[in-house]
Amino acid sequence: SPYIVGLTGGIGSGKSTVARLFGQLGVHWVDADDVARQVVEPGTPALATIAERFGPDVLQDCGSLDRAWLRRRIFEVPEEKQWLEGLLHPIIREELVRQLRGKPSYELPYTLLVSPLLLETNQHELVDRVVVIDVPESIQLERTMARDDNTREQVEKIMAAQMSREQRCARADAIINNNKPLTDVERQVRALHDRFLEEFR
Ligand code: ATP
Repeated sequence: SPYIVGLTGGIGSGKSTVARLFGQLGVHWVDADDVARQVVEPGTPALATIAERFGPDVLQDCGSLDRAWLRRRIFEVPEEKQWLEGLLHPIIREELVRQLRGKPSYELPYTLLVSPLLLETNQHELVDRVVVIDVPESIQLERTMARDDNTREQVEKIMAAQMSREQRCARADAIINNNKPLTDVERQVRALHDRFLEEFR
């Protein structure tokens, strides 16, 4: 598919849910979270580089990345966060491009790139349109707490580190209001799909 539509939103806004609704219409997608995990799987050059920098503490006994340890570490030391992002963002971006090329939506002119960091990184340069999934912060908090085993404090900390609702919506070509029953969201997705078919003809 020649066109790429970026789908983004804060934690628990409904990215996976909305991607699945597009999927029902035959649209394929690549999930940037999946790719971010794949590039640091055991045996990858990125994981070797990380282990060299942080030492054996950054690995679990089985040899896979200890994400919780690394998260704490980069939270405490901003330079380490910068270093890690400098290493991973280009690698993730390259792998996204590769997977997007390998995932055309048959007969449809576009593929989705689902990414929480679409607007925070240069990933937005890869897309032709930006779709933002919008919900009030209270709903984001409520749904994320219900889904994961996170405390209110943990979720609030993640939300505070992400782009604000206003900033995100200001950069959208289209907004999906996910503070609605799924049947309504499905209608919004179908309307947007029709619009993209029209625009990408
Ligand atoms: P993350 O950023 O953490 O990966 P996400 O943006 O992919 O999250 P989802 O996992 O799709 O968000 O949705 C968060 C939670 O909210 C899930 O439990 C999902 O089932 C629920 N949810 C999503 N949309 C709706 C909706 N319209 N009505 C009710 N619940 C919803």
